[in-house]
Amino acid sequence: MKQFLAILRFGAPYLRRYRARISLGIVLGIIYGVSNGAALWGARMVFERLSGAVPATPAAAQQEAAIATTGDSGATFSELSSNWRSRTAAVEQAVRSALDDWLPLAGRKPGWREVVGVLTLLPLLMALRGFTGYFSNYFLSWVSERTVSDLRIDIMSRLANLSLEYFSRFRSGDLITRVNTDALTLQVAIGSRMADLVKEPVTILSILGLLILLDPKLTFFVLIFLPICVIPIGRLGKKARAAGRGMATASSQQAGLMVEFLAGIRVVKAFGLEATQLERFQKLARELVSQGMRAMRARELVNPIIELVSALALSTLVLYIAFQGIQFTDLLTFLGGTAILYTPIKRLSQVHVSFVQASVAAERIGQILAEQPTVVDPSSPKTLTAFRREIVFDGVTFAYNDRTVLNDFSLVIPCGQKLGVAGESGAGKSTLVNLLFRFYDPQSGRITIDGVDLRDQLGRDLRRLLALVSQDIVIFDLTVAENIACGRPGVSRAEVEAAARAAFAHDFISALPKGYDTSVGERGVTLSGGQRQRLSIARAFVRNSPILILDEATASLDSQSEREVQSAIERLEENRTVLCVAHRLSTLMGMDRVITLSAGRIVESGPPQELLRQDGPFASMARLQGILPS
Ligand code: ATP
Repeated sequence: MKQFLAILRFGAPYLRRYRARISLGIVLGIIYGVSNGAALWGARMVFERLSGAVPATPAAAQQEAAIATTGDSGATFSELSSNWRSRTAAVEQAVRSALDDWLPLAGRKPGWREVVGVLTLLPLLMALRGFTGYFSNYFLSWVSERTVSDLRIDIMSRLANLSLEYFSRFRSGDLITRVNTDALTLQVAIGSRMADLVKEPVTILSILGLLILLDPKLTFFVLIFLPICVIPIGRLGKKARAAGRGMATASSQQAGLMVEFLAGIRVVKAFGLEATQLERFQKLARELVSQGMRAMRARELVNPIIELVSALALSTLVLYIAFQGIQFTDLLTFLGGTAILYTPIKRLSQVHVSFVQASVAAERIGQILAEQPTVVDPSSPKTLTAFRREIVFDGVTFAYNDRTVLNDFSLVIPCGQKLGVAGESGAGKSTLVNLLFRFYDPQSGRITIDGVDLRDQLGRDLRRLLALVSQDIVIFDLTVAENIACGRPGVSRAEVEAAARAAFAHDFISALPKGYDTSVGERGVTLSGGQRQRLSIARAFVRNSPILILDEATASLDSQSEREVQSAIERLEENRTVLCVAHRLSTLMGMDRVITLSAGRIVESGPPQELLRQDGPFASMARLQGILPS
């Protein structure tokens, strides 16, 4: 129940949108449940008539009902109960009278009415049961499909709004598992299990109602063992929850491994790591199997337990009958009712296990939805439409978690300057870029563009001023033209082609099978490293931002590709302010000024030729790279 409420609370905002269909599903589920009791009642009535054991004449029943309705308002419980039974008996009797001509009766020669009646009553009841069951499932599944689709969209939109910091904490495999597997677990719970949750209790109630009407004492014997089920089902629920958690962790890790494997397939192949990766995958697969089997045991052990209890109930019933004696048709109804009764109980126990697992999934998805971006847009933003004066880092201190990278860091980049950033690995070069894009906020100090603090601008407006070309080249599974156009949505084909020409990419694009309309495929595998980088430069051309950030843009290219890409970059740099981070110092030789960073501080600054003459850290690095003779 706790888990059911947790899921309901979690799903409420989504389910509310589809309340008409949910209500329809519930109403049909209730009719289905009632029709189970009605089918049993119908079968009993037919047997009764054929065996010649029809209990009371319509007249006698009406009389009985009349007595029942005159009971006074101060009646005791037993009087009320007998009143209720008499009233129900009266209704039953009225139905019996209406059907009397239409159903065969022992000792009466069947006419056409009996033939039609017997051929339609049970099929009608079964059709009612079958179709209401189907449509109840249909509407609730319809709701669950849409609910989970809405949920996935919400997760994606939450992820799109979260800051970069979040993604360095979470593995992609874990996120993918939450979006796919956990959402699917919820879908099953909300769809088919929710339908069971509506139909099965009503089925139980309707059959119990019928059995109580026939013989309350006998019904007590049918139910006497039911509480025994509660203890093992509760324990199995706990096991299922633990297995659900184990499965979620293992499948997250397996998905993570898969993402890693696909992203690094070249390195995997180059280093012959296939067997190692496969071994890790197999280990996780075994873990998944073991957790899956734990969950399966928890789910399926419910069946033999309930079957055992129902067999005990039947045996007790047989004993009772042996001692007390009972009419044949009632015996049949009771045996049939008991057998039918325990099936919905079994299904409800499985619903319990399924909800327990779904509550783990809801918790994991809830964690994503509860995340808040660490970098937020201001409520009253200032908008910069152009960049005219300078970028200023003013006494900036920044740490990733507890690790301080920049301490009271100051830097001015005048508009139009081409600034190179050199320094050893881990000095904080990429951190400067991250802060300028406002992927993170500094803990103290401020960064301004033309005097406006980055925190006072909308992220969207700020990033319009900036274009990034980095060594992480992202080519989307779109056409070449679409890949370039995503630099600035709404750009024309002519502008795309002009950008490609400027990036020296037009010739190789034209040679592709469908030119600009060639789909470059996932991860851009059909293009060389240099071609992919020139596409990303073309993307920066269409973006046409005044500030260009180059973060190791040629670092992963061979010297031939580097030359091609470098020419494109030089064109892109024209008339722009440039911040260029590079290990390869040859790329910095054309800059107006270079700063050398060491442990988050500027240790030297000046035109590159002058830094070489000063013989400081920049010159030492240049010597190591063969730019200066040693
Ligand atoms: P490289 O030239 O190797 O790319 P870098 O000079 O660009 O290095 P940064 O990437 O700015 O250096 O990193 C500065 C320090 O901050 C490093 O010690 C790095 O380990 C740490 N760091 C970088 N990114 C993160 C992060 N997302 N979370 C925690 N620490 C980080």
